[in-house]
Amino acid sequence: MPSGDRAGENLAGENLAGEAEIVRPSNPEHLPLAGQTALVTGANSGIGEAVALALARAGASVGVNYVTDPDAAQAVVDTISSRGGQAVALEADVSSETQVRSMFSRLLERFGTIDILINNAGLQRDAPFHEMTLEQWNTVLSVNLTGQFLCAREAVREFLRRGVVPEVSCAAGKIIAMSSVHEVIPWAGHANYAASKGGSMMLTRSMAQELAPYRIRVNGICPGAIRTPINRAAWETPEAYRSLMDLVPYKRIGEPADIARAAVWMASDAADYANGISLFIDGGMTLYPGFAEGG
Ligand code: NAD
Repeated sequence: MPSGDRAGENLAGENLAGEAEIVRPSNPEHLPLAGQTALVTGANSGIGEAVALALARAGASVGVNYVTDPDAAQAVVDTISSRGGQAVALEADVSSETQVRSMFSRLLERFGTIDILINNAGLQRDAPFHEMTLEQWNTVLSVNLTGQFLCAREAVREFLRRGVVPEVSCAAGKIIAMSSVHEVIPWAGHANYAASKGGSMMLTRSMAQELAPYRIRVNGICPGAIRTPINRAAWETPEAYRSLMDLVPYKRIGEPADIARAAVWMASDAADYANGISLFIDGGMTLYPGFAEGG
């Protein structure tokens, strides 16, 4: 297998990579993120917490962002530290440009650079469409979509400044957007949320296209039916759980750890050729379960 500066050659020995130097994956599989720094937004709860813990277990130093409940953020930091990892709690509202910039300054001051951004922070403000207030609309779009833009922009600036460090990763940086099955499944009563996730998909794909030449990878993970506080009403009673299972062909609720495993893979060089994809981790929710017996 060609490596180093021969990696761009085709079978006839022609160099198809132009001037770009290509680096192949080489990190040991047991610590695929060793030597890397990650920032996880909304990391004091649910999926973000599980992702932060999993990235740390995979060798990354982790910035644990939070906007409420500092004790929960500190608990995540303490868990990582007790396992021999490195982490710092970073307060910031991801929808505020000044707070996001300050968060990145604090992260870079502590760890020197950033290799991985997990744009996970998100919320819902549900309402029937005709009753939805502008505030409900703006709150959801500001956090779920503008927050992703603001954090991604700061990360990309640092990725471009630093470039690829071959001993650390094949890529100059990795961004993972925590999107949703609702980037493709319409959701009555949640138009603001579905619009934010559809927007996240096109932000991800446009960034992926634009930044690929700089060896920056941008991808999305699309969870569906994961047991977290955001969707408690959908799983906390037996009736709710049964009705949720009508939407999940795999017939079990997902756990935050299901998403965390995918995030570790996607952030690692094992996923080096994945760029601009949406990875659905949803027990088959996007398989039109109503058509299993109908249609
Ligand atoms: P959660 O409520 O446990 O976590 C959301 C996190 O985002 C919390 O830590 C919250 O404090 C944080 N947050 C909210 N507003 C913020 C802001 N302005 N600045 C910084 N942080 C902020 O819910 P979760 O299920 O873990 O959600 C995580 C992500 O996964 C969200 O983007 C959500 O849309 C997405 N998602 C979840 C599911 C699911 O089934 N749970 C499905 C699809 C997508």
